[in-house]
Amino acid sequence: MSALPSPAATGEQITVGVLALQGDFEAHRAVLEGLGAAVREVRVPADLDSLDGLVIPGGESTTMTLGVEREKLGEPLREFHRAGKPIFGTCAGLIMLDREHLGIIDIRAERNAFGRQVRSFETDVEMGLPGGPIEALFIRAPWIAEYGPSVEVLAQVDGNPVAAREGTVLVVAFHPELGDDQRVHALFLQAVRDARLAAA
Ligand code: GLN
Repeated sequence: MSALPSPAATGEQITVGVLALQGDFEAHRAVLEGLGAAVREVRVPADLDSLDGLVIPGGESTTMTLGVEREKLGEPLREFHRAGKPIFGTCAGLIMLDREHLGIIDIRAERNAFGRQVRSFETDVEMGLPGGPIEALFIRAPWIAEYGPSVEVLAQVDGNPVAAREGTVLVVAFHPELGDDQRVHALFLQAVRDARLAAA
């Protein structure tokens, strides 16, 4: 049971974009649709038009950066953020949003921070969500090496920040789109609905 109202209950149909240049965008689409959002894959700037929020998936941040440059998506993505539309980045998506990439959240991501050899592990992460810790899957994951004063750290692994929020931007270093726990996506969709109501 979820404490969050469904889109049907609020009468709000929201449409969320998933950056689909590279990475596991299809897994995000499935989770978001399962939670009642309409989803559009974003490959060029015009795809951002009239979206209520955006997910940047996991994948490979160097390849994704090349795609953003090729499609001239950097400034449109920053403009989307400035318009108050929530953005959610997971793993490589967290890296894409940091100071050294799109500059949308005031963090510096350390890539492959758990060690290149540690390709993948699962651990319980306490994010303060109702229902207790998340069983989180980390795949060659980053952590947040530095962050500014307006960034709220939501979770840590061994003292290293792995989830954070700054205003309407949410980032996690793990892969909530893989597995069957949808609470992090539900948290993001709630922020999308709140932002839409605030703008109405
Ligand atoms: N290691 C990847 C990078 O640096 C991120 C891994 C992932 O998204 N699962 O881009």
